[in-house]
Amino acid sequence: MNTSLTLGSGDRWVEALVDCPAAQGLFTYSLPPDLTVQAGDILCVNFGAAQVGAIAIRVLVQPPPDLDPGKIRPVLDLISPGFFPAEYWSLLERVATYYHTSLIQAIRVALPPGLLQRSQRRIRLLRRELSPAEITQLSPIAHKLLQLLQGNQSGDYAWKYLQQKLKNAPRGLRELTQTGWVESYLQPVTPVKPKLQQAVTLLTLPKQEISDRQREILETLKHRGGEVWLQDLLQACHTSVSTLRTLEKKGCVAIAAKQRLRLETGVEGLADQPRSLTPAQQQALAQINQLTGFQPVLLHGVTGSGKTEVYLQAIAPILAQQKSALVLVPEIGLTPQLTDRFRARFGDQVCVYHSALSEGERYDTWRQLLDGTPQVIIGTRSAVFAPLRDLGLIILDEEHDTGFKQDQPAPCYHARTVARWRAELANCPMILGSATPSLESWASLRAAAATYLSLPDRIHAQPLPPISVVDMREELNQGNRSMFSRPLRTALEELAAQKQQGILFIPRRGHSTFVSCRSCGYVAECPHCSVSLTYHFTPETPYPRLRCHYCNYTRPHPPTCPECESPYFKYFGSGTQRVMEALREEFPHLRLLRFDSDTTRTKGAHRQLLDQFAHGEADLMVGTQMLTKGIDLPQVTLVGVLSADSLLNMPDYRASERTFQTLTQVAGRAGRGSQPGQVILQTYTPDHRVIRAVAQYQFEEFLSTELQQRAELHYPPYGQLILLRLSGLDCDRTEATAKLLAELLQVRLSQSEAAAELLGPSPANILRVAQHYRWQVLLKLLPRDQSDLPSFLLPVEELRSLCPSSIRFSIDVDPLTLL
Ligand code: ADP
Ligand code: ZN
Ligand code: ZN
Repeated sequence: MNTSLTLGSGDRWVEALVDCPAAQGLFTYSLPPDLTVQAGDILCVNFGAAQVGAIAIRVLVQPPPDLDPGKIRPVLDLISPGFFPAEYWSLLERVATYYHTSLIQAIRVALPPGLLQRSQRRIRLLRRELSPAEITQLSPIAHKLLQLLQGNQSGDYAWKYLQQKLKNAPRGLRELTQTGWVESYLQPVTPVKPKLQQAVTLLTLPKQEISDRQREILETLKHRGGEVWLQDLLQACHTSVSTLRTLEKKGCVAIAAKQRLRLETGVEGLADQPRSLTPAQQQALAQINQLTGFQPVLLHGVTGSGKTEVYLQAIAPILAQQKSALVLVPEIGLTPQLTDRFRARFGDQVCVYHSALSEGERYDTWRQLLDGTPQVIIGTRSAVFAPLRDLGLIILDEEHDTGFKQDQPAPCYHARTVARWRAELANCPMILGSATPSLESWASLRAAAATYLSLPDRIHAQPLPPISVVDMREELNQGNRSMFSRPLRTALEELAAQKQQGILFIPRRGHSTFVSCRSCGYVAECPHCSVSLTYHFTPETPYPRLRCHYCNYTRPHPPTCPECESPYFKYFGSGTQRVMEALREEFPHLRLLRFDSDTTRTKGAHRQLLDQFAHGEADLMVGTQMLTKGIDLPQVTLVGVLSADSLLNMPDYRASERTFQTLTQVAGRAGRGSQPGQVILQTYTPDHRVIRAVAQYQFEEFLSTELQQRAELHYPPYGQLILLRLSGLDCDRTEATAKLLAELLQVRLSQSEAAAELLGPSPANILRVAQHYRWQVLLKLLPRDQSDLPSFLLPVEELRSLCPSSIRFSIDVDPLTLL
């Protein structure tokens, strides 16, 4: 359906988004014949007893069947046209359809809350000089309204005020709007009060007549781009305001109040010039510059190969064409460094948008984006919904990262998928950048020279750090029961002595509950599914059990290893805290910094920790997943990985891919500066195909084997998965409902021609979460051809109706994990 259809007369209805304190939702209104409305327009409607603003979402040529046309209330007025680009709504509709959620849910993840609430309608005069002849044609009420507006010097009034003054103001306004003499518009109620703050701007660097101290201040100022907040400069230079005033008197600097946006802007940071590119970068850029229209390309560059510089230089011409660029990154933890680099290059044209912003900040950012000037938006997955006009380029950095997938609330969208649709709608290119591309992108973009851009070497031809694999079984044999192997121990001891820094990565992700033998490395696997069994122990059952969460096979937990009878047959799991304790005990002189979801919870904590580390305030940074991402610190020479196995043995079909990516990424943090790096990777399964591929940087080999396996089993990218999740307090009831849904699906499958397979129902890997029992049904479609599943195969409404209200039902399209 074409939602941007312009309709004028006859019977038309409009579905509008009402977002006021009383309710948020989609409601249908009828359109008066004289009103022309497009998707994205802001309307004025009745809601309850109040008049509120609403956004037109789609124009309907038929009233919804479940509504009595006589009872549908009319749209009162058009407040302002074109709040959003028309294609924006097509995007949200596509999201809702593909991910099987309602449009309102898609809108909720896309728009900041209270977008309209905070806005106030105002009326302003567009033409002041009107001849008496023109005015005589007006009705008395329109005339009065006009006089009111003309009486005000600015010709501009709040609509509320005019309504209070004039009883029939709406009618008068309608008439005046048609003449084109006045218009109504939306203004934020809380005018965004500019936050002013003292800033110091460098004017000249004098040759003589100033003290060394003063010169030092000026140098700092210059280094930081010529303009710094007064407070920051005082801190950075340990100086006083009076010293700065002296410099001001000498004409070296200017001190003035400047606006500090509520956005994460800062004037700090070195202003930065485009670097001269390496030949590989040049070639990649040349190919990108040639792209016209919608075209995804893969930028495959090893860690430290200078992908970011390519992004920056690809964006510059886009801005010059008065278009905007959207840069998506997987996690906030990554943004401070990246944002700095973008700011240094593009200054205030860079705007940061992510869900950790406060409501006010999100709102401000939206208003700023809507004004249509070309900008660079950097943000996490929800930024894919930023309301940019004239989008010229989309970049997904670290495109393989699972952080791009929304877990909840619904829709469980993947920013890469949505970004692709956006690029298609905006008809612009899209760059997927990674050192370890996803299998999806690899499979679709690797083959053609036009879509595969490669940066095979690090900048300045620095080598990738060698990776040594340490066999932890051997360590145990040698009597080392510590979690640190002898090589890692040596490396840690040398670290401080050599004044270098290291990263210790703990590959713990959620619940690593696979069971393995410390003596021989044997991992308990399901005989039917080739995934590792998970450890289950609940107070209700007397013995721990092992269970396959794909097919529900279970067996008791054997007391000793089935292979070698070693008693060290236990489940894995070692948290950051435990590792920190062990480090403190064994390496008391090492200065440690903990970087994980616990220590980075507060706003700005990421940046603070990274800054501390960058300034050499710690020798070793210890942490989980977050450490693997984009950190570019030249002084890091050592990367240690504690037991790579807990990643490898996640009972998930993507375990190998994810382990490969994670280990390669974390290894890539070492040796990015002038000093060579080294990586020590501890494992109980040194011969595992993934470990070997990581240690030897065998990217292509690994991917081709992995793709082959996926193809055989019809897993993505060769098949499509749709996971139905159920959860409820009542164990039996949840299970029974899951069975009911599975039966219905099975019947549909057997009646259809579609090549599809149903797996389950099976209990989720972690059966009980927050007292809720979780079951799931997996639908596997092979091959993946249809983007929108026929509702016959997946009758969502019917499935929903089979679920009692006590059971939560959700659909995850293209789940990244089946856990
Ligand atoms: P990647 O994103 O591929 O891991 P980066 O873009 O972070 O790599 O680049 C690694 C380092 O090399 C950065 O410190 C960057 O400033 C530097 N760099 C990138 N391109 C160049 C270049 N053409 N000349 C000199 N240094 C560069
Ligand atoms: Zn199984
Ligand atoms: Zn064993």
